[in-house]
Amino acid sequence: MKLVSCAIAIAALLTFGLAAQPQPPAPSAAGPALHAKQPRRLVIKNAMVIYGNAKPPYGPIDIVVQDGLISYVGTTTDVPSTAARGNDAVIDATGKYVMPGIVNAHMHWHEERQPGMPQPIQYERNLYLAAGVTTAREVGGDFDKSKKWQAESNAHTIVAPRILVYPFVSKGRTGAPAEIRAWIRDIKQRGADGLKIIGMDRDQLEAIMAEAHALGLRTATHIAVEETTAKDYAELGVNSIEHFYGVADAALNGIQDFPPDTSYSNEIHRFGRAGELYAQADPAKLHKIIDLMVEKHVAWDPTFSIYEASRDLTRAQNLPWFRDYLHPSLEEYFKASADNHGSYFFGWTSTQEAKWRQQYRIWMDAVREFANKGGLVTTGDDAGYIYSMYGFGISRELELQEEAGFKPLEVIEHATWNGARLIGMEDRLGKIREGFVADLLVVNGNPLENLKLLNPYGADVMLLNGRPASNYSPIGPNDRVQAARGGGIEWTIKDGIPYHVPTLMREVREMVARARAQRPHTTAQ
Ligand SMILES: [Zn+2]
Repeated sequence: MKLVSCAIAIAALLTFGLAAQPQPPAPSAAGPALHAKQPRRLVIKNAMVIYGNAKPPYGPIDIVVQDGLISYVGTTTDVPSTAARGNDAVIDATGKYVMPGIVNAHMHWHEERQPGMPQPIQYERNLYLAAGVTTAREVGGDFDKSKKWQAESNAHTIVAPRILVYPFVSKGRTGAPAEIRAWIRDIKQRGADGLKIIGMDRDQLEAIMAEAHALGLRTATHIAVEETTAKDYAELGVNSIEHFYGVADAALNGIQDFPPDTSYSNEIHRFGRAGELYAQADPAKLHKIIDLMVEKHVAWDPTFSIYEASRDLTRAQNLPWFRDYLHPSLEEYFKASADNHGSYFFGWTSTQEAKWRQQYRIWMDAVREFANKGGLVTTGDDAGYIYSMYGFGISRELELQEEAGFKPLEVIEHATWNGARLIGMEDRLGKIREGFVADLLVVNGNPLENLKLLNPYGADVMLLNGRPASNYSPIGPNDRVQAARGGGIEWTIKDGIPYHVPTLMREVREMVARARAQRPHTTAQ
């Protein structure tokens, strides 16, 4: 057996998927001709289709997109009227998989992470599109800015995912119920798509939920450690529970077992002790609260990836994509700091990591049980904190959902069809179906074989005699085996407009290089 274990770090493979190109392509300033232009008609040829709702993939088949919608899925040679015409845009998806665009159900837009170091908003937009996110549910942000960006995204005057705006319920924590209700009516008037609720007393929550239901506003909650738990939110009809908070809390015998010197405004205390919560839950009570969440149709958006540093700090601090893609503003923000939310790693201990690992095991089992009982699981990354980069966070979220026991096809369902259901757009998003919005990802390879293929950085692949192959393939004595980089999404298509992912990522590298050149100073980690 001739094992050639040369690590070929070829950007060309990323650019061109796995059609092994010996030479990197000459960088082109404009990128491919189709990038960011709305074709009247787009034909994607010869694709294997991952439909969205977890039915098995099928194909190869053609997908015709007209005026932003999927107008035909089938073999275009069978139906002459659907065949590609002279001025159609064509994407050859031979050897590639096409899946619906991802709904990132939990994210925030950031224009600056470290004071005085602006981070261009296009950085985050490009990274999300490159990770396949075509719809972004912002759960808390700058409301007026996000509404403006939403309109611009809908009009295609900016390169960005579709945006849904769920503002934080202001006055929630301090307001009287009447004030809270007035605030909600006002924000609905101003165009809120939903509400993000954090940390409430029961009477406040009752006021919020009553008003939200009266106005038809969807609700997402970060429960925190509060008077209210998942039980209150489920009873009062919240649409989604974010993160891990509130579920274990509803299954405690008594209250959280935190030491008397705990201060919840000290994030080392808060995040350290949070990692002990699931171990304190009574398993029988945990089953019951999961039953209640399923019965009340509460979705669970666990955002596993955002807490991962807590269970493995060294991994989180040394992700390979930081080298070319980490903006200095975000880099500064990630460093341990009492001022930055989520930057709580001062003297993080082996015991804290071990407790968080245990927490993940119980939490993941709970999410799996919730889904097995019929609960709706979605995907969100909450990136821009805790060493999680925009886009890479959603890609990692999919991997962690596989770790929780879901098959890759189920994970993709969580990211697409379940996301569409969560945001109430299941009549037009989340499936590759005629009449649905053309939010489509053209993936270099089969993400059901390896979810890492969806990572904007690409993935390690094995080449057998120069061609990509499963690493379980039999290897004969005369076979040539090579390690290479491949995978990645080739095109992210939103509303029928194709965005070329290698071009988006090149732009990100350039933004980062420019910002680093201008960086005033950097502080020691
Ligand atoms: Zn968040």
